[in-house]
Amino acid sequence: MIPIKSEEDLQMLKRSGRILSAVMRKIEKSVRPGLTTLDIDLLSEELILKENALPAFKGYKGFPATACISVNEEIVHGIPSPRVILEGDIVSIDLGVNLKGYFSDMAVTVPVGRVDENKKKLIEVTRNSLEAGIKQARPGNYLSDISHSIQSFVEEHGFSVVRNFVGHGIGKALHEEPEIPNFGAAHLGPLLKSGMVLAIEPMVNLGSWQCCIAGNGWTAVTRDGLASAHFEHTVAVTDKGPVILTE
Ligand code: MG
Repeated sequence: MIPIKSEEDLQMLKRSGRILSAVMRKIEKSVRPGLTTLDIDLLSEELILKENALPAFKGYKGFPATACISVNEEIVHGIPSPRVILEGDIVSIDLGVNLKGYFSDMAVTVPVGRVDENKKKLIEVTRNSLEAGIKQARPGNYLSDISHSIQSFVEEHGFSVVRNFVGHGIGKALHEEPEIPNFGAAHLGPLLKSGMVLAIEPMVNLGSWQCCIAGNGWTAVTRDGLASAHFEHTVAVTDKGPVILTE
């Protein structure tokens, strides 16, 4: 069953999302060459705690940090470390907030200084594919209309969508039903209804979609070593259309 949120739930989720997007904006601005991924993580934790909220990922299935920070060929679930960020890198930052039991989830990919044209285009296409997916998040559409529009958009631009990780419902837990693949045919799966809240999160690769898991057991990396980007928003399906809660 896909949970339908009450008006009160939606208000709390909106508060959670607002905290998350404000934190993310600050983090995005702080990213620069010379910083370590651990620096970004510690700042994220500090900013979330300051808002009287909790980092949603820390301890989740044993994940050791506040943020997932994935650099270049890392797709998702990068573990913050003393790795130094360099000019020309692209850094995906995925953060979750738990405000009094109401969860929000968001990711962005940030270019560090000057990055090459391919990476720039990859970031742009991934961001816009999320937008294309969000547009489909309205009552009466099928769940896979989101998936299909993301995949079509990405492939039209010559990139590929990751198959091994998917978006998800979100609300009183970080991961709720349904799973939201970023690929597949349109007009399949459950019908979307007002009150559903979805974390839509395309992960897009410059080369092939195939990936493998790094030695730390967490981090997904592209098999061909080419770059990957990730954008995510928490979105409410409403009678007035999609409402982005993390904006
Ligand atoms: Mg997510």
